Amino acid sequence: MANSWRHERWDSLRLLTPNWQSQVPGLRYEGPDPDGYMSVEEVAGFIDRFAAASRAPVRTGVEVTSVRRAGDGGYQVVTSGGEFSCRAVVIASGACNRPTVPALASAVPGPVEQFTTFDYRSPGSLPEGGVLVVGASATGVQLAAEIQRSGRPVTLSVGEHTRLPRTYRGHDVLWWMDAAGVWDQRYDELEDLDRARRLPSPQLVGTPERMTLDLNALTDAGVQLVGRWAAVRDGRALFSGGLRNVFSLADLKANRLLDTFDEWALTSGRDGEFGAPTRMEPTRVPATSRLQLDLGSGEIRSVVWATGYRPDYGWLDVPVVDAKGHLEHDGGVVTGSPGLYALGLPVLRRRKSTFIYGIEDDARDVIGYLSKHLDGLRAVSVD
Ligand SMILES: Cc1cc2nc3c(=O)[nH]c(=O)nc-3n(C[C@H](O)[C@H](O)[C@H](O)COP(=O)(O)OP(=O)(O)OC[C@H]3O[C@@H](n4cnc5c(N)ncnc54)[C@H](O)[C@@H]3O)c2cc1C
Repeated sequence: MANSWRHERWDSLRLLTPNWQSQVPGLRYEGPDPDGYMSVEEVAGFIDRFAAASRAPVRTGVEVTSVRRAGDGGYQVVTSGGEFSCRAVVIASGACNRPTVPALASAVPGPVEQFTTFDYRSPGSLPEGGVLVVGASATGVQLAAEIQRSGRPVTLSVGEHTRLPRTYRGHDVLWWMDAAGVWDQRYDELEDLDRARRLPSPQLVGTPERMTLDLNALTDAGVQLVGRWAAVRDGRALFSGGLRNVFSLADLKANRLLDTFDEWALTSGRDGEFGAPTRMEPTRVPATSRLQLDLGSGEIRSVVWATGYRPDYGWLDVPVVDAKGHLEHDGGVVTGSPGLYALGLPVLRRRKSTFIYGIEDDARDVIGYLSKHLDGLRAVSVD
């Protein structure tokens, strides 16, 4: 139960979503700190409580090793706990089963140790000395901050990213996204669904002080920013230039989102409830940013890949996964394989689909399709 939260997260991680947003059908946070952020153990406990309250017939500690189509139109599921014949299957195996590491990792010279977010637990997991953190989304900025605090000088390689303030006009930024209806935007109403599904996670951290952890905060902490890691040549890491453009794009998008919140406050007649609108200070571009780093010089002792996650469908013996490893589906109804459904993937049916509190609405919709499918099968067998 709660396997990914117990075994695949680093020690200091707290949810990005405030406690009031941790809600699943029949269970919501009712503790003393609705605006706080759960630790990894608290999330695991929350999921345990949900399992107990829902009394769903969950078999824990069982691995699914194969799902294939059966001759009767259903599915044959092979698990470490036996075989099952099913009329329908819901794939809820998660969007983050494996860390994504770019191919250039194989060219990093041997003495530099490499870590993914699945091996990393705390700065003590790393050798002493300089650390190159790759990726400046939620994971990368959080790890860069805590590794820098541990006394290991951090260089952070920054590509496209999503900048957000932790709070805005007195409320958590995720409260604003909820109130302004951003989380509820449906997959079939978005202009560019592919892009929405690939958006980097926001630069956010859950701390008691509700601090904003953006690139300016990291620069103030002494982290050195470099561009996207483009190649390794002759033992040197080569980084893209153009940080100014990358930063201004992220600033522009962040301020556009704040515009959306302000518009919502005005149109909903609630503007007077909040403090005055503000805008974020532009991301400061370093006076000089290095375009290369000699990985053999000893300056960098380890690399931490915070370059995202991907699902793992190695066990799915149905041809519904595209060349990039993504499940082909329309709002959770798997394409070309009746009776196969999915939940918990990015923008599956709404922007909030991969969040704990996003699952309820999606599950209701997907279960609707699933029951229609089962009704259809029943009607056929009665005929
Ligand atoms: C670093 C990080 C931070 C996050 N922060 C937040 C946050 O602040 N707020 C929030 O709401 N969400 C957050 N999320 C997203 C969060 O993971 C989801 O909200 C939630 O865990 C999704 O639940 P899930 O059941 O869909 O997937 P998961 O939690 O990934 O669970 C999938 C389960 O399926 C199991 N599984 C996979 N393959 C098989 C197989 N073949 N056989 C048997 N079991 C299998 C896995 O072991 C796992 O237990 C975060 C995710 C990550 C990676």
